[in-house]
This record gives sequence, C-alpha cells and structure tokens, in this order.
Amino acid sequence: MPWPDEPCAACPRLARGLSLPCRAQTSRHRRFCDLADPDHPDHQPAYRRMLADEPEPDPAPPLVPPPMPGIVRQVMNFAVAATTHVATGAKIASEKERQDRLEICGACDRHQAGRCAACGCLVVVKTSWAEQRCPLDPPKWGPVGATPTGQGAFV
Ligand code: SF4
Repeated sequence: MPWPDEPCAACPRLARGLSLPCRAQTSRHRRFCDLADPDHPDHQPAYRRMLADEPEPDPAPPLVPPPMPGIVRQVMNFAVAATTHVATGAKIASEKERQDRLEICGACDRHQAGRCAACGCLVVVKTSWAEQRCPLDPPKWGPVGATPTGQGAFV
C-alpha cells in the first residue's frame, strides 16, 4: 500500500523499533518524512527526533566568561604595557593594523565589553600601540611588522 499506510524507507521509528503509524502518517504530512530523512537536502535533525520520539538534546551550557585578572595584576599589566610603549618610541599602529587587531579581539573568547580578560587592558588602547601583542601564548596578534615564528614568538 502507498504511503501513509506504509512507512518511508528512511523511517526513524522503524530504525528504533518503534510502532507505527508515526505522526507524519497520522497527520498525512509527507513533508515531515523528507525533513527527517538524513539523505534529503532539506533534512533537519529536529524532525527526525520528533518522528522517532527522541528527547531533545540537552541545551548547551551557558557560556561563562573567563575571569578578569585581579585589580593589582591589571594595574601591573597596564603599567608594563605603557612602559614598553614609551620605551619603544610610543609608535601608534596604522588604522588598518588597528582594525585587523580589533577584528581578532572581537572574535576572541577573552574579549569582554572592550577589555581583554587575559590581561585586563582596554583592547582599544592595546591594539593601537604598535609594539604590543596579544598576551596569550601563542598570541593571536603580534607587534606591527613582526613575523610570527609559529612558536608564539615574533621576529
Ligand atoms: S588581546 Fe588577545 S586575548 Fe586579549 S582579547 Fe585580544 S585576541 Fe583575545
């Protein structure tokens, strides 16, 4: 007998040994079968779970932002950055270099409301100082004009 009396070839209920009819058959929504079929171009796993009475997967745990360094460490980190900046001639990164760095920071999981949780510095300040580098090891960006060695250093 044609569908809806017979299950589809890719019936997820049969694969799990469950009884028929499925919800697609009883509601005569053949489209559910397409959406549940992993080989169909419109496949959506939620429909397969629905037809197979599978529980929804646990939601991803909420992202917990990494903790900022303590205030003393933040002050020390900024003092070191500022001292290095002055000692190396207070060079400012070009707009392009700054934007490239900001783009990397913007996509970084340590970026928190304009600050870097790895060092506590204001990202907008640190990315504008030419000689600065991302504090991670390996760093995600380095001093302007420096070439990454691949081992977390720049030459
Ligand atoms: S400086 Fe490095 S660690 Fe900090 S936010 Fe930017 S990319 Fe992330």
